[in-house]
Amino acid sequence: MAKPHDHDYDDNFIDSLGRPLRDLRISVTDRCNFRCQYCMPKEIFGPEFEFLPREDIMSFEEITRIATLSASLGVTKFRLTGGEPLLRADLHKLVSKLHEIPNVEIALTTNGTLLKNYAQLLSESGLNRVTVSLDSLDDQTFRQMNDVSFPVKAVLEGIETAGHFGLGPIKINAVVRKGVNDHTLLDLAAYFRGTSHIVRFIEYMDVGNSNGWVMDEVIPSSRILSLIGKIYPLEELPSNYSGEVASRYRYKDGAGEIGLISSITAPFCGNCTRARLSADGKFFTCLFASSGTDILKEIRSGATDKHLIEMLKSIWLRRDDQYSELRTKYMRLSPEEKKIEMSYIGG
Ligand code: SAM
Ligand code: SF4
Ligand code: SF4
Repeated sequence: MAKPHDHDYDDNFIDSLGRPLRDLRISVTDRCNFRCQYCMPKEIFGPEFEFLPREDIMSFEEITRIATLSASLGVTKFRLTGGEPLLRADLHKLVSKLHEIPNVEIALTTNGTLLKNYAQLLSESGLNRVTVSLDSLDDQTFRQMNDVSFPVKAVLEGIETAGHFGLGPIKINAVVRKGVNDHTLLDLAAYFRGTSHIVRFIEYMDVGNSNGWVMDEVIPSSRILSLIGKIYPLEELPSNYSGEVASRYRYKDGAGEIGLISSITAPFCGNCTRARLSADGKFFTCLFASSGTDILKEIRSGATDKHLIEMLKSIWLRRDDQYSELRTKYMRLSPEEKKIEMSYIGG
């Protein structure tokens, strides 16, 4: 079978900056059992916060329809995300439906809390890989970062179970915040050295409007690279495919690899092939957008596939997003306009 990303699609179907559509990130819920301060701070996402009403959330049939149409336009990878995607009941049933779409890869990004329970079912339903977010192995630091005092141990068990059921190579995402978890990064790298799991250090981003992001809390990837490389020498690897967000490095002694996601210091809009679908069916062409196109509304008013395809096509053809690059180039930080929240659109 041809590998996803190996396909030949219509070369003319590119956005206004020459980028094809290859990845669709699908948010299946805007709810989460964590309150990571960089994503869903309690002060905002507290008991009063109004999450999406159930009737506004896409059904699995509606998601599958949009996914199928997007695959016909060139998407080769679906990533299920949220909020916390494993809070969505029967997620494996969605995976089974997506698995019927030919030549696509299905991945999941999760905080890992429920992975131990669901890894086997998800794998048997056709999930290919998981990415697990884990910001620190230091229990106290981790409990503080997820802000619901959830222990590290349970996430590690989830990772192990996922590995056991073939959901690897597993990527471990760690958002780095100065003064919060930067003293624990080396331990994280050391723990997964010698396994097939790939730890990816993510620069803390100015997503949404609620996390109070300031540049001072960002640790540049270059610093993380030298911190780890000093103890465990590293060398750069080529990307696996065009549009890959992480720069890859391997341990010179052959003990595996790590990744660095440098959306602040080295943005990668130039080959961004990602679109995002919110849990209430809005299609976004950038993580930093302030609005999306309501595809679900069209579906619920009886739109034909032809109409939906034309809609998706016209959105993509005029896409000109390059928020991170403009931010870095002009130091245009956190503009006044409202941006969507990460927990709504999915990472
Ligand atoms: N709840 C799931 C999880 O945490 O893996 C999936 C959704 S979460 C929004 C997706 C990813 O976004 C996670 O890896 C998370 O660490 C990352 N993320 C959230 N807020 C971020 C921020 N401000 N900067 C960088 N990454 C962030
Ligand atoms: Fe939840 Fe993921 Fe956001 Fe943390 S990063 S609050 S786990 S959605
Ligand atoms: Fe893609 Fe927008 Fe992120 Fe740039 S800022 S990489 S266009 S999602």
